Amino acid sequence: MSSSLLSLVGSNHLPAAFATLVVVLFSILLSYLLPKLLGASSLTKSYAKFKVLARAVVHEGDRPIIALSLGVATKCLPTGSHVKVRVGGEGGPERSYTPTRFDGGLCELMIRVYPEGEVSPVLEKLRVGDELEMKGPTGIHRYGEDGPGTFRNGRKAIDGVRRIGMLAGGTGVTPMMQVINHIRADQEDDTETCLISYNKGEGEIMMEGELREIDREGGDKVEVKFMVSEGEGRVREGLERGSMRKMGGEELMKSMGLKGGGDEVVMICGPKGFVAKAKEELKGKKVNVLVW
Ligand SMILES: Cc1cc2nc3c(=O)[nH]c(=O)nc-3n(C[C@H](O)[C@H](O)[C@H](O)COP(=O)(O)OP(=O)(O)OC[C@H]3O[C@@H](n4cnc5c(N)ncnc54)[C@H](O)[C@@H]3O)c2cc1C
Repeated sequence: MSSSLLSLVGSNHLPAAFATLVVVLFSILLSYLLPKLLGASSLTKSYAKFKVLARAVVHEGDRPIIALSLGVATKCLPTGSHVKVRVGGEGGPERSYTPTRFDGGLCELMIRVYPEGEVSPVLEKLRVGDELEMKGPTGIHRYGEDGPGTFRNGRKAIDGVRRIGMLAGGTGVTPMMQVINHIRADQEDDTETCLISYNKGEGEIMMEGELREIDREGGDKVEVKFMVSEGEGRVREGLERGSMRKMGGEELMKSMGLKGGGDEVVMICGPKGFVAKAKEELKGKKVNVLVW
């Protein structure tokens, strides 16, 4: 106990001392004991070990999707950022992942497993209680740090954003999910979002159920569309056939409900070819384009 607290205990300031003591104990509980009980540690710029607190298989199949919830002690992941995960210790391969949910104690990663990959098959094998090495936050993009409808991209700041178009290829949907969740959690934030999720097969759409629910609940503020490129003929209800390869600039703008103005942003995330094509098509359009 600090000396100022001790002197208060011996005086008629006892209620104040007691209140201070309660506050001190409570903050110790929140910042130290609770994360310890949960098995959480702090996210830092160098690799630290994090315990897997929950694991779920979100999709079965050739390229399954798993969700890992890790114990992270403090709210240290700004919206727009991601983390780096390393396997095999120092010098081992590392990859980036974008937490889709972060609740100051739990950080959820959605990982598509590529059977021939170096890192994702190792992550698939993790079970509750295992540890994984993670560091962060990384990345230059931030949403909402300066209030609703604001982005920061390194030193560049964009504000007054009214509508965000989101072009996501496969797992590229994860940063979009972060921004959508941020906007939903902020009552003051009226920024509209329109996410177009581009996928190969009908059966491998990342977070389809969750996104459909968000679309239903979001009214005019949130719109989500799902595109599928593989196969021929009709796609199941709620999906559209389409591929970034075949999209023109005007068509892209229209699909996201964008008119072309300084108050609009397009977020792009996905495989290299997907990003390059989207950027090419949006060249010359009056929108702020941000690539994750
Ligand atoms: C900023 C950022 C955020 C990311 N966030 C996420 C995320 O939240 N969730 C997530 O699952 N991934 C995310 N990724 C991708 C992730 O970092 C890895 O690239 C991915 O997990 C594959 O790593 P790997 O070591 O298993 O495969 P690698 O060893 O890198 O690749 C092996 C093989 O797997 C296949 N493969 C790998 N990536 C792809 C791909 N995108 N499309 C098609 N085939 C592929 C290819 O055949 C490749 O040759 C993100 C990437 C970046 C840059």
